[in-house]
Amino acid sequence: MVDDADATVSVEVRRSRRRKSTVSAYRDGARTVVSIPARFTRAEEREWVERMLARLADKEARRRPSDAELLERATALSLTYLGGRAHPSSVRWSGNQGKRWGSCTLIDGSIRISSRVQGMPSWVLDYVLLHELAHLLHAGHGPAFWELLASYPRTDRAKGFLEGVAFGRDLPDDGPRPGGEVDDPDD
Ligand SMILES: [Zn+2]
Repeated sequence: MVDDADATVSVEVRRSRRRKSTVSAYRDGARTVVSIPARFTRAEEREWVERMLARLADKEARRRPSDAELLERATALSLTYLGGRAHPSSVRWSGNQGKRWGSCTLIDGSIRISSRVQGMPSWVLDYVLLHELAHLLHAGHGPAFWELLASYPRTDRAKGFLEGVAFGRDLPDDGPRPGGEVDDPDD
């Protein structure tokens, strides 16, 4: 399993002649790529790399809400998209979801979201939450289930995003699971 916390931070600085004053940074696996204008001095480079790393870390922290915030968010999503009919008892991050993005237990209404979703765009997390919330109302993946998710405008886009991530990590969908434990959303 991929554990992002163990990733060593390596920074690659790219100098671009086409860049006049813009600086950008993104993660590429364990590596962080910072692009700066070619004219930057070493001092400016150090300053900007530091600034961009802090900015990225900040953005990522905002994408890792606490368990309490997850529950709050799930409750709001239920209200907005499911008419408030799904009532999760608890929502928490879980490091042992295997290939699943999330799961729920119908008997007590608890939802677990794979920690692999941490750091993904908020609209993807919202989709994973909604998927599990919808399972509290519908166990299977029939038309009635997808009907529940139809009002969320980014369902297809989020499914595509997760399929791409799974493909990239060689983690194919392991399909629906029988019983109270409902399976992953990436089907
Ligand atoms: Zn599902």
